[in-house]
Amino acid sequence: MRRIISVLSFTFLSVFIHLVQAAPLPVVASFSILGDVTKQIGGDRIQVSTLIGADQDTHMYQLLSKDLRQMRSAKLILLNGYGLESLSLQRAAEQSHVPVIYAVQGIQPQVLNDGNHKHDHQHKYDPHVWNDPVLMHTYARNIANALIKIDPAGKAYYQSRLANYEQRLNQLHQWAAKAFAAIPASKRKVLTGHDAFGYMAKRYQITFIAPQGVSADAEPSARQVASIINQIRNQNIKAVFVENIKNPKMIQRISKETGIKISGQLYSDALSKGAPAATYLDMFRSNVSALSAAMK
Ligand SMILES: [Zn+2]
Repeated sequence: MRRIISVLSFTFLSVFIHLVQAAPLPVVASFSILGDVTKQIGGDRIQVSTLIGADQDTHMYQLLSKDLRQMRSAKLILLNGYGLESLSLQRAAEQSHVPVIYAVQGIQPQVLNDGNHKHDHQHKYDPHVWNDPVLMHTYARNIANALIKIDPAGKAYYQSRLANYEQRLNQLHQWAAKAFAAIPASKRKVLTGHDAFGYMAKRYQITFIAPQGVSADAEPSARQVASIINQIRNQNIKAVFVENIKNPKMIQRISKETGIKISGQLYSDALSKGAPAATYLDMFRSNVSALSAAMK
């Protein structure tokens, strides 16, 4: 009898705990990097769905009807901003009646003066802020503040996870700065597929050359390719990378014509499904390791 009672009370206790612990809040993030940072800060209190997954290209993404349903049933929608997401995705988010925040808010943007964008008649900001871990402090704080706003009871929880994450961002930056400082300035030159590393370039004084511009919707002309090949030869560039989200054809062609072998793959705008770039911190670490090894 006693045993039955204790089993019963245990069952009641579990049910009670379950009722007190609210179900995780559904949150939608536009792409994998933002989704991961949100998970790191939100922990068990939220359930993050990512619209544009690992190894997918946000610049080229077409909105699906399942995305609309997902956004409408969320408590919060997180977008990167500075033009990373298509206008249709931004509009759908704004019209969903769910709070929307832009993670880049408050980050000083770099203005693009890319040849591919001359016809636009307006300034375009570079959306790839995640390639500088120093800027990611603001990004992470924006996410934490948005979570606190929709879930004030979790304030202390989110703040403590944010503090922990910021410490890891600090360590990541210190480590990257040291790795790049070991390479002579004249050797800090890299060829990549598209122009995703402007913020990293500025932070660590690296020159990136990218035949495909920022969004890679325009293929470079034969003349542009010839000029890049000249640049590689004249400047003695040894670090040549393909990207996880881009077709490697252009880089392969340049590599073939210059006789420079491809150094590896960078994770520019999306995480990988497993190792080596399953989280933002791992992604950045993997890129810095690959870049510094190739530039030496
Ligand atoms: Zn990009």
